[in-house]
Amino acid sequence: MALRGRILVVDDEPSIRKICQFILQMMDFEVETAADGMEAVEKAKGKPFDLIITDIKLPGIDGVETARLIRELYPDVPWIVITAYGQLDLALKAIRLGVNGFLLKPFSPDELKVVVNHVLEMDQLRRESLRIKALLPLFEISKTLLSTLETGELEGKLLHIARESLSADGVWMYEVDWDKLLGNPPDSLSSLSLELQAALMKALEKSNTAFLWTRERPEEATSLMVKANLDQLLAAPLRAGERLLGFLAAFKTVGSTPFRPSDQDFLTILAGQGAVALENAKLFEHVQKAFVELQELERLKSNFVTLIAHEFRTPLSLILGYASILSEEIQDSRLKSFAEIIVHNAKRLSSLLQDMLDFKRLEKKATSIQLEPIFLPELVERVVENYRPIIQDKSLEVTVDIPPEVQKVQADPAKLEVVLSNLLSNAVKFTPAGGKITVGAKLMDRPYMFVKDTGIGIPPEEREKIFHSFYQIGEPGKESKGLGLGLYIAKELVTMWGGRIWVESEVGKGSTFWFTLPVVEGKHAS
Ligand code: ADP
Repeated sequence: MALRGRILVVDDEPSIRKICQFILQMMDFEVETAADGMEAVEKAKGKPFDLIITDIKLPGIDGVETARLIRELYPDVPWIVITAYGQLDLALKAIRLGVNGFLLKPFSPDELKVVVNHVLEMDQLRRESLRIKALLPLFEISKTLLSTLETGELEGKLLHIARESLSADGVWMYEVDWDKLLGNPPDSLSSLSLELQAALMKALEKSNTAFLWTRERPEEATSLMVKANLDQLLAAPLRAGERLLGFLAAFKTVGSTPFRPSDQDFLTILAGQGAVALENAKLFEHVQKAFVELQELERLKSNFVTLIAHEFRTPLSLILGYASILSEEIQDSRLKSFAEIIVHNAKRLSSLLQDMLDFKRLEKKATSIQLEPIFLPELVERVVENYRPIIQDKSLEVTVDIPPEVQKVQADPAKLEVVLSNLLSNAVKFTPAGGKITVGAKLMDRPYMFVKDTGIGIPPEEREKIFHSFYQIGEPGKESKGLGLGLYIAKELVTMWGGRIWVESEVGKGSTFWFTLPVVEGKHAS
């Protein structure tokens, strides 16, 4: 069974020493005894005790002086004093020295047990509270470190905390990835820095905790320590997971008070938290940089779109104008067909440019909706008319289905034309020759419009994505002859009038794009 601790009993009466030893051993303590103060101090020098019990009156130095000398070696060791009536002056001295308990002579075994247990429990509590107090600054430090996202600032804080908390003569830090040496290594270190750095990195390679180098040990470090004029060197690994990022080190020069035993643990924890915080900060800076680059790319793309759209528009309308005249005037049928090809392709280019400009306007939020009463069948006819040549070319059957109750609606005619036009152009594009297309409206809880085709259909996983800007299924621009903007523009416009757009589809059978028309003060029609 594990022993509860070591107790030193100091009394000049052999019977009391014996009885105490017997009872305390029964209580599972390891017990040493001494007959006078000097013997007690000598015994304490050998190995620390968890409790000392001294008679107040001893031959030579008294019990209070004995305790004082032992506490010079172990400042916090708990102490019980054995007194008798009439020893008030010595008892007062004991109180002034911070005695933890009294045993009044003559005492029973039970009294000894109660006092010993009580004093040890109180000491345990005191140590716990000290541990918690010691953790609090670490908690604060950890919060500070983890909330710092700028590496330079973080490195500065780490060095400052290490220097202040360890009362070091100097602290420094080395980061492998950047081969960066920070802090204030002693002057004499600069010539040695590479050698010392390499030795530290080697020693820390496999270590997860801080270690202490002195002029005496370890052997491989002693000559470096002397050359650098250091007395003590405390170093801890900066480790994130398995990766050794570098080290954090603090030193004392000759003549300074040495590091405390707890400093080693402190540096281990500080470096551990510092390494995690450094990794976080670096990751954050990386993401921030990538974000700025992306924003710049986005700006360039946007400027490019505007430039193309504006610079191409004028020459294109000239080409379209003259080619249209040519196609009407030329008699030679071969040349006429050439002119018609020019007109057809110029129109396609013009519609792409229109998409780009609509996109730009939407991105800049420079578009607003102006509602007015419109006659839907007329507007739909106009849109279908634009696609008549290709509809005929592909022998598509296009039906318009607008029941009387939804013919007069409130809408922004120009914007509605864009939406319908984009949906119809896709329906025409993605429906094989001989297919059917319906452009219709339906009154349910509010007025809806739809464009239905018997085309190739859209797989379920693409039905959301096709409404994103520049998104096309498969390889962009390969067959679609578009920019991937048509549905994005339609969605933005519908959203602007408070509506919704979505698609129902079956691959290989066809798709129906639905969207809602604006609702004005609870009414849909004028
Ligand atoms: P684009 O102008 O390039 O056609 P859209 O935004 O209009 O861009 O459409 C995005 C993608 O959605 C198209 O490239 C196409 O793959 C798919 N799509 C749109 N409408 C249909 C449809 N009626 N049938 C099948 N696929 C379609």
